[in-house]
Amino acid sequence: MSQPRPFNFSAGPATLPEAVLQRAAEEMLNWQGSGMGVMEMSHRGREFISIYEQAVGDLRELLQVPTNFRILFMQGGGLGENAIVPMNLSRGGVVDAVVTGSWSKKSAQEARRYAEVRIAASNADDQHRSLPAPASWALSKSASYVHVCSNETIDGIEFHELPDLKALGSDASLVIDFSSHVLSRPVDWARVGLAFGGAQKNIGPAGLTIVVVREDLLGHALPICPSAFDYKTVAEADSMFNTPPTYSIYIAGLVFQWLKAFSYAGKSGLAAIEQRNIDKATLLYSTLDASGLYENRVAANCRSRMNVPFYLRDERLNDAFLTGAKARGLLQLKGHKSVGGMRASIYNALPLEGVQALCTYLKDFEAQNG
Ligand SMILES: *Cc1c(COP(=O)(O)O)cnc(C)c1O
Repeated sequence: MSQPRPFNFSAGPATLPEAVLQRAAEEMLNWQGSGMGVMEMSHRGREFISIYEQAVGDLRELLQVPTNFRILFMQGGGLGENAIVPMNLSRGGVVDAVVTGSWSKKSAQEARRYAEVRIAASNADDQHRSLPAPASWALSKSASYVHVCSNETIDGIEFHELPDLKALGSDASLVIDFSSHVLSRPVDWARVGLAFGGAQKNIGPAGLTIVVVREDLLGHALPICPSAFDYKTVAEADSMFNTPPTYSIYIAGLVFQWLKAFSYAGKSGLAAIEQRNIDKATLLYSTLDASGLYENRVAANCRSRMNVPFYLRDERLNDAFLTGAKARGLLQLKGHKSVGGMRASIYNALPLEGVQALCTYLKDFEAQNG
């Protein structure tokens, strides 16, 4: 028996299910008797096409993606999509942006290079600690889409319900950046036109970007849009217009299979992982709230289930806290450099035992230093 692995709270690239890593290790030199590793296969060969088709099908099943949406496997990451979305959807006109934290702010800035961006709402005055109520958003009549980051990875803010733009009197399509909570919960596709996310937070290795787009939004790219980033071109080529990130797709596919087989609290698949995510987040937030040493500053109704930023009230203890955590096998708890403090990312692949071990450490450290 090998040593148990430490618990890894990295915000991304992030921890992966151990069973997936083991399977990938077993198949590294010879995938299913083919005599080749997945990295060595032609993306157009029978073997890789079967890996790709299973991955797309499993993702569609897990997220209950309707048939009028296409699933694209792209490259360029979340920041790439900040340009690719306006190039494909804005038609050079007006787009609305809702700024709720660091990532949505970046998205709005990048979109300005391709479209007229209007800030429909912002929580900057509240230091990104709450969500502006959708009924208060100043939506433009002529906007082609409204951009929202449905989980702010740095600020720890999550939309627990997506806005219903129709009910708010807008004909625009909702675009969500779901990079850091994709597959942690279901998506209400009736409210969404396009969702994008980098794989390296909650799915698999960096390099793969998932785009789920409603078919009527294809085919409107600006002339300056590179062909490899034109959603219509990518969709028509089944994500093989150019060589896709094959190994990242393979690992993502193994994660999808792991999720489909996942069971917890009498549930299975996505419902099971969502329940475990709720239980993990509830345990961690309640431990933080009960303490005199730590604080999470996000409004209770929009706290993220995935990324939990917290601060030590005495910041002089930060280094000792991190050193002690590492000694217990609790890795990468340091907060993002832009906001300081600590952050525990508790993605799908982080077991409940990891959060339990963190909570025990939080209490022990407080008892010694409080
Ligand atoms: C990490 C992250 C990004 C940036 O992704 P890259 O792949 O580094 O471009 C964008 N949006 C959100 C919400 C993220 O968490």
